[in-house]
Amino acid sequence: MFIEVKLETMIIIMKSHVTDDEIRAVEKKLESMGMGSNVSRGIERTVIGAIGDERKVDKEALEALTGVEDVIRVMKPYKIVSRESHPEDSVIDIRGVKLGGKQIQIISGPCSVETQSQMDSAAQSVAAAGCRLMRGGAFKPRTSPYTFQGVGVEGLEMFRRAADKHNLPIVTELMDVRMLDTFLEHKVDVIQIGTRNMQNFDLLKEVGRIQTPVILKRGMSATISEWLMAAEYIAAGGNHNIIFCERGVRSFETYYRNMLDVTAVPVLKRETHLPVIIDPSHAGGKSWMVPALARAAVAAGADGLLVEMHPAPADAWCDADQALSPNQLNELMGELRGIARVIGREL
Ligand code: PEP
Ligand code: MN
Repeated sequence: MFIEVKLETMIIIMKSHVTDDEIRAVEKKLESMGMGSNVSRGIERTVIGAIGDERKVDKEALEALTGVEDVIRVMKPYKIVSRESHPEDSVIDIRGVKLGGKQIQIISGPCSVETQSQMDSAAQSVAAAGCRLMRGGAFKPRTSPYTFQGVGVEGLEMFRRAADKHNLPIVTELMDVRMLDTFLEHKVDVIQIGTRNMQNFDLLKEVGRIQTPVILKRGMSATISEWLMAAEYIAAGGNHNIIFCERGVRSFETYYRNMLDVTAVPVLKRETHLPVIIDPSHAGGKSWMVPALARAAVAAGADGLLVEMHPAPADAWCDADQALSPNQLNELMGELRGIARVIGREL
């Protein structure tokens, strides 16, 4: 849904002592971009209001004109994902599981799919803990090309078999657009776009053409507005089933893997109508930090969590030190249930 904008959507502030020619040049530039203009001459300054759909406007091209001091956007650069365009919270339906409503969803499972028995055991623990969605990567984005890269397509099959026994929708990461059809054939319920791909625009455009819900992780150095614009790429293609996932950002601190930006939760809840979840596992990077970060996330208003859990953490092929055991997941679910109740939500 696009909104027709007839307001002044951009304000061009001219330098003092601007000439008529410089003003005309701005008007002509706006006209070439399909925009109208409205010149207001003050005593000290002249400002020009641009009228029309500012998405067509190349801000830098205006800033480059002589006589232009500053160009200010009035409207947000993202539209479909913005709360301005959709004041109510969006609730994403994942095969009957609602994400973004009163009920908080805890998505749990191993970092990576390893074997059928590992996935069977993990699915059993995820369901027993009361989680309604399961995670697991068949394709892993690893820093080193010499470490385990994921079991691949076979992993999708193992995941599907294990999760189906408990009727758990599956969440798994898509790294390469060439695997999209395979993901659709395996009826992947939620496609995860990882931190390293948040600005892989070709990948974003492709997942924008389908209707499968997408978890868009925050790039590890991405600003909130870059993250919102990445979501807008998906939404602009027609897929509005987007879930934001904060997973910690790069910082000066080396004690933990990433710095969990809990502030992003209230900020995103204000800026967008889409659900916001938190991944405490990749933030802390150690299993003992996960419960505290998970509790903070729920208390801050997150709509869900993405938590790594492995049937035998010490044997995990990937991210062993941050995986909860089935018992630890169970215990955490109990704590989160209490917090949810206090803030008028449920688990
Ligand atoms: C993951 O969830 O397994 C993962 C690789 O996360 P991130 O993209 O946040 O590093
Ligand atoms: Mn992991």
